[in-house]
Amino acid sequence: VARNPGEKEFHQAVQEVFDSLAPVLDVSPQYTEMSVLERLCEPERQIIFRVPWVDDRGRVQVNRGFRVEFNSALGPYKGGLRFHPTVKLDTIKFLGFEQIFKNALTGMPIGGGKGGSDFDPKGKSEAEVMRFCQAFMTELYRHLGEYTDVPAGDIGVGGREIGYLFGQYKRITNRYESGVLTGKGLGWGGSLVRPEATGFGAVVFTNEMLKTRNHGFEGKRVIVSGSGNVALYAIDKIHQLGGTVIACSDSSGAIFDKDGVDIDLLHEIKDVQRKRLSDYAALRGQQSEYRAGATAWDVASTTSVDVALPCATQNELSEKDALALVKAGVQAVGEGANMPSTPEAVKVFMQNNVLFGPGKATNAGGVATSALEMQQNASRDSWSFEYTEERLTHIMQDIHENCARTAEKYGEPGNYVLGANITGFVRVADAMLAHGVI
Ligand code: NDP
Repeated sequence: VARNPGEKEFHQAVQEVFDSLAPVLDVSPQYTEMSVLERLCEPERQIIFRVPWVDDRGRVQVNRGFRVEFNSALGPYKGGLRFHPTVKLDTIKFLGFEQIFKNALTGMPIGGGKGGSDFDPKGKSEAEVMRFCQAFMTELYRHLGEYTDVPAGDIGVGGREIGYLFGQYKRITNRYESGVLTGKGLGWGGSLVRPEATGFGAVVFTNEMLKTRNHGFEGKRVIVSGSGNVALYAIDKIHQLGGTVIACSDSSGAIFDKDGVDIDLLHEIKDVQRKRLSDYAALRGQQSEYRAGATAWDVASTTSVDVALPCATQNELSEKDALALVKAGVQAVGEGANMPSTPEAVKVFMQNNVLFGPGKATNAGGVATSALEMQQNASRDSWSFEYTEERLTHIMQDIHENCARTAEKYGEPGNYVLGANITGFVRVADAMLAHGVI
């Protein structure tokens, strides 16, 4: 805390992992003797840079760019870029720290990193977004490489931004290095299923948790927060598995469709027209109720809920929200976003025997499919949707099984927080020990 003053989210993420590790540190003293914990929470490298660009009115704008290359014990740094006005070093450090363990859980050869900028893409023209992405890459490119650091998207960075970033990387380096970024377009090195992967994977993981109590999504009433990339594809998959999503949200409000949201209309409004949920509700008419200023969790106070998937942002689900969900009958919570539940909310779920899948396990399908994209790039190949989705499903089932088995081994069956943290930690820590003191 003294070394990183004011970095609240980073402290929260570190605390959450370290709180789980006592059982493994007790039986494996080598981790303490070799200062693995101290080394783990100090990033290998942190890059902060100026991003100057010119807006449509000819004025010079200055943003701040970040890339935190946290841990490369298992492979090149891998993790998304976030463009959002709230981004600061603290945000990127918490996300990068989580990413180390998430990537380890996938079982794939990828280290942990994260980056982004305080640039706000909202309200910017297409040309402004392009110029910003080019300016951002003009500095970042020197730190990247297929074997060094491989960014992807996150909040505010989708296929369009990855396209501009890739174009600029190619221009500066004069190299068509497909494996340097993931989340690329299908026509130029992208992978099928990557857009769907995080949402689909979160639902597969949550379904596996439900199966341990002889349930599935069939007939379940589900609330999903957010209406971005992760939320939309989670909603698709829930409906495919027979569940009904009754509410979702954006940062302006929430919709409550008591008989289930209209998925096609939702995709049309969000993906094609790039509009808001208030526009969705206006078109959907009486079947949708728009609650301005409300969160998705506010809906839980007026109806029954079986499953909740927070898929918006960090610390969006408070203790009060968790209590409302428990009262509404929630049986399982799967975190599609990174650290969306506050520590107090997680405690409420655990104390009430709610199945709880932490983000680093539940949302690992996105980065896992990014690693599959890297495999396809390395072999100059592209796989079918069915084959890639099958690989994703197996990866998510394996993550679930490994977390469940570890939790049981350390005497806390059903504790996926402990299971995920210890499984990820051991994989990274053992590689660090093997590499010596570096
Ligand atoms: P998007 O930008 O596509 O969507 C984010 C959604 O969350 C939007 O609906 C947005 O609403 C809402 N949101 C953002 N900030 C807030 C806030 N402060 N309060 C309420 N709602 C908010 O991002 P993604 O779907 O890609 O990411 C969502 C989460 O999932 C993040 O935590 C991300 O780190 C995590 N994640 C994403 C992965 C991926 O593959 N995309 C992989 C693993 C994790 P609005 O439009 O109004 O801003």
